[in-house]
Parts: sequence; C-alpha cells; structure tokens
Amino acid sequence: MGDRFDETGRIRIRESRPPIDSSTGVVIKKDTLLLRQAFCHAGHSLVDPNNPRFDGERGIKLLCVGKAGRGVVYLSPFHKDHRKQLEAPAFEDGEIVRLLCPHCEEALPALAPHDCNEGAMYVSLYLNAKGDIHHSASVCNAWGCYASFLRLSSEVITDLRASLSQFGMPF
Ligand SMILES: [Zn+2]
Ligand SMILES: [Zn+2]
Repeated sequence: MGDRFDETGRIRIRESRPPIDSSTGVVIKKDTLLLRQAFCHAGHSLVDPNNPRFDGERGIKLLCVGKAGRGVVYLSPFHKDHRKQLEAPAFEDGEIVRLLCPHCEEALPALAPHDCNEGAMYVSLYLNAKGDIHHSASVCNAWGCYASFLRLSSEVITDLRASLSQFGMPF
C-alpha cells in the first residue's frame, strides 16, 4: 500500500506543478502564469502574431460553434484570467459550444466533465506542438461558465479526483 493512500484512506493525489520550461512557453508575469504558446492536437499554433493582446501579450484564438452560428474567441493568455475578446454571435449563457482549432477546424479534445452545466466539458489545448496532455491547458466549453478561462489540465484533474472521492469514487 505504501504512500498511495493518505491518512484518511483517500488515494493520494500527485501535487500539480506548473510546467514552467522553455518548451511549453509558460512563464511567470505579474505574479501569474502566462501561456505564451498554445497548439491544437495537430500542432497548429493558436497564438498568431496578429491576435489581439491582453496586457501586451497575444491572446489564444479558438473557433466557437454554437446554435447561433460560428465565431472567434480570443482567450486571455494569463492563467485564470476571465478576459476574452469576441468576434462571435450571441451564444446563450450555459450553452455548450464546440471549440475548434481555427486552422484545421477540428474539435479540441475533451479532458473531463465540468459540473457547471449538463454536458459541459473541459477541452484541452497543448502547450507545445507535441500534443502531450501532461503539458496542456483546459477551458470549459459552456458559454459564460465561471471556469471559462485557461487552467492547467493537471489542476482540472486534481479537482475532478477530489470531487469524485467525496462520493467514494476514487479516480
Ligand atoms: Zn489544428
Ligand atoms: Zn463549466
């Protein structure tokens, strides 16, 4: 058994450490994590030179498809920053939108459910062009979700494990 379980008998969760290294483009700026690069699973860059900027840093471009049509959203590249710039039709709050790579127009891969709305999922974008899920960030695909900002995928998994273990379902 060893140290796989903590003192309460729960499965021990590996602490998430931010992937700060040159291959992922994750740096610290203004006391928060800044994601300088992001890619789809096919290695297309989501950070183009002409993307709008947030505090001088280029936003991360995604294509959104919902009931009202399709549009573009630029996410702030700062970790847990809610700011966005929209060139999108009026999606409804809570609506599940499809989030696609603006280059290949393929859906970003789903990582884990989010309990904000029925059917909501965290979808992942990669921090380097290798498509390594261990170096990825995630955003919820429910329009207007309180978690509709970039988080590290490792944090999402840690949260999911914690909520599942509350119900006696170690993950
Ligand atoms: Zn792509
Ligand atoms: Zn959500």
